[in-house]
Amino acid sequence: MYRYLGELLARGGGVLASGTADSVLPATTLLFCGRRHLSQAVDDDDPNFFTMVEGFFERGAGIVEDKLVESLRSHETEEQKRHRVRGILHIIKPCNHVLSVNFPLKKDNGEWEVIEGYRAQHSQHRTPCKGGIRFSPEVSVDEVKALASLMTYKCAVVDVPFGGAKAGLKINPRNYTDNELEKITRRFTIELAKKNFIGPGVDVPAPDMSTGEREMSWVADTYANTMGYTDINAHACVTGKPISQGGIHGRVSATGRGIFHGIENFINETSLTNILGITPGIDNKTFVIQGFGNVGLHSMRYLHRYGAKCIGVGEVDGSIWNSDGIDPKELEDYKLQHGTIVGFPKAKPYDESILEADCDILIPAASEKQLTKTNAHKIRAKIIAEGANGPTTPEADKIFLDRNIMVIPDLYLNAGGVTVSYFEWLKNLNHVSYGRLTFKYERDSNYHLLMSVQESLERKFVKRDETIPVVPTAEFQARISGASEKDIVHSGLAYTMERSAKQIMSTALKYNLGLDLRTAAYVNAIEKVFVVYKEAGMTFI
Ligand code: NAD
Repeated sequence: MYRYLGELLARGGGVLASGTADSVLPATTLLFCGRRHLSQAVDDDDPNFFTMVEGFFERGAGIVEDKLVESLRSHETEEQKRHRVRGILHIIKPCNHVLSVNFPLKKDNGEWEVIEGYRAQHSQHRTPCKGGIRFSPEVSVDEVKALASLMTYKCAVVDVPFGGAKAGLKINPRNYTDNELEKITRRFTIELAKKNFIGPGVDVPAPDMSTGEREMSWVADTYANTMGYTDINAHACVTGKPISQGGIHGRVSATGRGIFHGIENFINETSLTNILGITPGIDNKTFVIQGFGNVGLHSMRYLHRYGAKCIGVGEVDGSIWNSDGIDPKELEDYKLQHGTIVGFPKAKPYDESILEADCDILIPAASEKQLTKTNAHKIRAKIIAEGANGPTTPEADKIFLDRNIMVIPDLYLNAGGVTVSYFEWLKNLNHVSYGRLTFKYERDSNYHLLMSVQESLERKFVKRDETIPVVPTAEFQARISGASEKDIVHSGLAYTMERSAKQIMSTALKYNLGLDLRTAAYVNAIEKVFVVYKEAGMTFI
């Protein structure tokens, strides 16, 4: 496949495909619609986030429409088929439900405040809906809707059978005590439960910006002790929980680990690295990270472990730089101790924009709309690996395509989190951890196998009382007891990222998309969601 992608790129990929000449209604109609949205979205270089995601969707839809029409096997006329395809595409795009809540908080100092929150469910083509809860002062209806729709496409790209959702509480968590954050999280869970916006089969939140295991534990406990009291699966109402609450090994670092695998899958492709003017492989590549939170830290850990060098890290209160490399563990310890990366003794302060730093790989891992038409011309990285959701505006995306900078898109690259959340949800429904039932059986079977090989060899080759010891290799010895939960999570994640990368590359080839991996990923997502709507009869009534 990689060879084919090379051929494509040699043919001068990078242009958007339009409809085929013989289609009844040209596919460019929808494509044009997408471009119109795109230009609306970028007029002021501060695009509406939801419109931005819709624009990316429409770009993908415009490209795949003809093929979807062809795929319909029915007695309808060509025009009827096209109407049906466009109908389904229109159904896929909007957010199905948005819940808006306001509730009171009595602060520890006795003052009262009203807390504003949202949960958007983009799609129920698969249930439950799935998506994180974030705490941020920037939260808005538009933001949660955009993030929920991204979740639908993300789940489709990595074949995780969920619809997309997202929640946000409009707070700056630094302004609240732990006690207040717990009250806010628990009350928000009750509000979600009252409106049927949470439940193991309905809608399953997860961590996002400024939330983690602790908050997910509060969510699970609140739900399990109220609405979910009689439900044996109650703890499957949320993922990203601590192990003691039904969490899974590897979830905390899953998004970062997935980002590492995602970069690896594309950077090992020589036809791509030739265009980018870099050597293949992760080893010795330099990278820079914006945002040293969950996603930033764990991406850094894995890239560092496999030989890449982190030379710069940017945070809200300052950036740091060391051309000889920054050690992730040392920086993590420093941040835990001081609450900031600023002042880290093994790096110097960096006063320029960290996004514009000279490096091979730039990882925006903070928030949306960081790469815009204002700074896209100044970006010096060869690869932009979207750890955050929506970090690139459509206008910046076009500039990167023109400049042959490869963007590995969010809806693929940061999907490791939801992939491992899916494994956690399955574990909760099964009420047993991975490997628990098979450990002993597998270990015994493997020893029997070794003994049987030994006996056969001795029977054939040696005299009485002599032995031929059959010693397992170090690799086999390490696996002799079968796979642990961690092994299964790690291999399941690596497999998912590899399979989806191949699908994206082959779609880029098929539609002559060149370096436009985002559109290729959207095309894949649209095809997969489309088939569910089509085969369900479209309306679900
Ligand atoms: P986090 O809160 O753990 O970390 C975000 C970090 O970015 C914080 O340290 C914050 O101070 C910093 N930051 C915010 N704005 C910044 C700016 N302008 N410049 C520099 N630093 C800035 O959040 P997270 O969970 O790591 O999420 C980061 C991004 O990744 C978000 O877009 C989120 O939606 C996305 N994401 C997260 C997950 C997950 O599993 N946590 C999964 C997929 C995608």
